[in-house]
Amino acid sequence: MSSIHLKTPVPGPLSRALVERRAAAVPRGVSQLTPIFVSHSEGAVIEDVDGNRFLDFAGGIGCLNAGHREPGVVAALHAQADRFLHTCFMVTPYESYVRLAEKLNALAPGRTPKKTLLLNSGAEAVENAIKIARAYTRRPAVICFEDAFHGRTLLTLSLTSKTHPYKAGFEPFPSDVYRVPYGQPAALLEDTFQRVVAAESVAALIAEPVQGEGGFIVPPPGWVTAVAEVCRKHGILFIADEVQSGFARTGKMFAIEHEDIEPDLMVTAKSLGGGLPLGAVTGKAEIMDHTGPGALGGTFGGNPLCCEAALAVIQAIEDGGLCARALHLGEIFRRRVLEWKGRFPLIRDVRGLGAMQAFELADSASTKALTLYCYEHGLILVTAGTYGNVVRVLMPLVVTDAQMDEALDVMEAALKILEAA
Ligand code: PLP
Repeated sequence: MSSIHLKTPVPGPLSRALVERRAAAVPRGVSQLTPIFVSHSEGAVIEDVDGNRFLDFAGGIGCLNAGHREPGVVAALHAQADRFLHTCFMVTPYESYVRLAEKLNALAPGRTPKKTLLLNSGAEAVENAIKIARAYTRRPAVICFEDAFHGRTLLTLSLTSKTHPYKAGFEPFPSDVYRVPYGQPAALLEDTFQRVVAAESVAALIAEPVQGEGGFIVPPPGWVTAVAEVCRKHGILFIADEVQSGFARTGKMFAIEHEDIEPDLMVTAKSLGGGLPLGAVTGKAEIMDHTGPGALGGTFGGNPLCCEAALAVIQAIEDGGLCARALHLGEIFRRRVLEWKGRFPLIRDVRGLGAMQAFELADSASTKALTLYCYEHGLILVTAGTYGNVVRVLMPLVVTDAQMDEALDVMEAALKILEAA
């Protein structure tokens, strides 16, 4: 049976009414990518308030690698809800925070002993990684990359690359942030140290092992290793931002594992929480322990519901073989899209790692038209890229082969219409 089932033209009457209420109650700055209001979700399927069923290839922007309402996550949440909801880990701790920290410490690449700090979001985790790096190195500067995305808080916006719609109007940004091209020979960093900022002033370099919002840009093989090596040479901490690429998306638990390196600090969020807001900084224990009591934390960071959810997510990834599944899904995608590339000149590039796959179109107008056609035909997709011309897939990794084919059929139909226009 088809997963996509549309009872009404999309958006249906109930969603349309909610779009109006939303416009009156919520600021315009919170974008609305589809005019569909959710009623239920399961696996890779979302049902809206009008009873329409969609395949969800956005996954809440990469937060549902283990699937919507993963059964282990739901069971763990019910059990936790019956015990306690919040005490603040800093005031009255609970075991699940410690168990999750132990698990992330064990999963993080490399043999150096690790420690983990839990927070509420990817941006908050990035902020804390920078705080920790500055405190440890006693240096001010941070190096980041063109086309990077690290969040929307003021410090993380200064690390994020894209001006519109993210940065413009929010200036001034925190200082001592230096941006260099992504994927270029690591030796060019030496030039940056000569011409832009002295190496001994740099606390950290932060990189996405595969760029997410920037357009699913995969750097050349060996690049991350070479960059980490330059950092090591100069006493600069290497921070891997795995917020989007982590938790099996690329076919490994963390994308950084495609190369043999141990980041000093690793930032995770999104799929870690299985749908709940959770971020983490996992790093070498000596670095993580550098700040004194009270210097790190927050009221809700590592809330017990989020910890239980995350432990169930990791279990689901391990038990469900989701890393292997990601590689398989990536293959299905690439086979189809590479064949389209030969037929549809609109497609300029096909790229990705594991199930973190995308295709780039000639322009952002075609990309918008494609995603519009897709959600009107039962497939929810989000775009990426500095120029808004990349179609990326972030479907739950529990999507079936048949659902994958169904989604690709919708994309192909959209491309045929766009190509004929
Ligand atoms: N880092 C990366 C690589 C991301 O993709 C994102 C969000 O898209 C963030 C950080 C920020 O995460 P959050 O939206 O949870 O603050």
